[in-house]
Amino acid sequence: MAEVQDVSHDLGHLEWETPLFNQAITQFEQALPHAAVGDAVAERLRFPERSLVVSVPVRLDDGRWRVFPGYRVQHSSVLGPTKGGVRYDPEVDLGECAALAMWMTWKCALLRLPYGGAKGGIRCNPRALSLNELQALTRRFTSELLPVLGPQQDIPAPDMATNEQTMAWIMDTYSMQVGYAVPEIVTGKPISLGGSLFRHEATGAGVVMVIERCFQKLGTPLAGQRCVVQGFGNVGGIAAGELHDRGALVVAVSDLSGGVHHEGGLDISALRSYAEANGSLAGYDSGERVSNEELLELPCDILVLAAREDQVTGENAGRIQARVVAEGANGPTSVEADAILGERGILVLPDVLTNAGGVTVSYFEWVQDIGRLFWDRNEIRAKLADKLADAFDRVWRLAEEQGLSLRSAALVAGIREVGAALTSRGIYP
Ligand code: GLU
Repeated sequence: MAEVQDVSHDLGHLEWETPLFNQAITQFEQALPHAAVGDAVAERLRFPERSLVVSVPVRLDDGRWRVFPGYRVQHSSVLGPTKGGVRYDPEVDLGECAALAMWMTWKCALLRLPYGGAKGGIRCNPRALSLNELQALTRRFTSELLPVLGPQQDIPAPDMATNEQTMAWIMDTYSMQVGYAVPEIVTGKPISLGGSLFRHEATGAGVVMVIERCFQKLGTPLAGQRCVVQGFGNVGGIAAGELHDRGALVVAVSDLSGGVHHEGGLDISALRSYAEANGSLAGYDSGERVSNEELLELPCDILVLAAREDQVTGENAGRIQARVVAEGANGPTSVEADAILGERGILVLPDVLTNAGGVTVSYFEWVQDIGRLFWDRNEIRAKLADKLADAFDRVWRLAEEQGLSLRSAALVAGIREVGAALTSRGIYP
């Protein structure tokens, strides 16, 4: 393949260039020298393939109209349809979606799933919207995205503040347009619509499978390790339960309302029931209350970051007192923080590996939908454990062989997969 001219530096500011996108690009650049892909491939992969910006009008329950900005970014379709979540959050913008879409590309490729990366979302405050308003928002957003969605084109899934119900509305809106039921248009949907067993738990359970594999390599049992978990939603809440089930001691957890800390170990099932009944951990009084900032700095063996991006930064990385940091969220550790944690000998289990359980079971769901043949829970759990162990071992080996951080090794492994495919296919035309 002929090399392309390096033109990107002459293009000025690109629409998706934000601090988070620059974080994704910096990680990519750090991995690139070890990935041995050609300059043309590297240049191509710096850009998301396609970005769609829409505006979504919604009639609120009180009769007023509001219009919300919505986004879908597809980073790479080299290995197959693009795949990734849809989030509802006040911080959603084009750069965030582009960064998260790029990470999805490396994540899918690292796990050897036949997908590229995508991400989308709507900038809104989902907690201020009623169920009716969320339904209207989701259905109109889906119809705005119709030209770029499809079971062989781009397959959404849940992400922050979206869930099985959101996926059911997307599936129904899409199916109504084509005239027949298309369960394989989304993953993470209700079981009754062709959702997969174990998808709901997959991201949080996968985080703990990766942590467990890491402790096997370190030669230390996971049982008895002291854990702090930031985020108590679908990732953190499940991960805390799985850690507890393996005999680890969860000493602190938090959500948007702040954290709860108890050195003797928290009762995770009581906390989950409380959060379910009350909508958050606010008011839970068994244990000492801490802020999210304080929680991150508690002494522990394992710190699970399962809230959102940009939590461990240059400012607080020096005060983190964990031995292992596991990224359940996407992008929770800044580039500066990564370097500080590395120098301090704190092992970071990177997002593209650690939270890949979700998209892996999404892949299983899509395969089951297409085949119209469904697997049982134990089979799915075992298949997920195999996939994560295989990816973990490849990353660990690469890190050892090339003297890389686990993050760089994970990205190198992902970039190599996409790079090899793109080199064989060539860049069109
Ligand atoms: N939103 C999840 C992630 O960031 C899941 C994506 C999917 O299942 O497609 O990995």
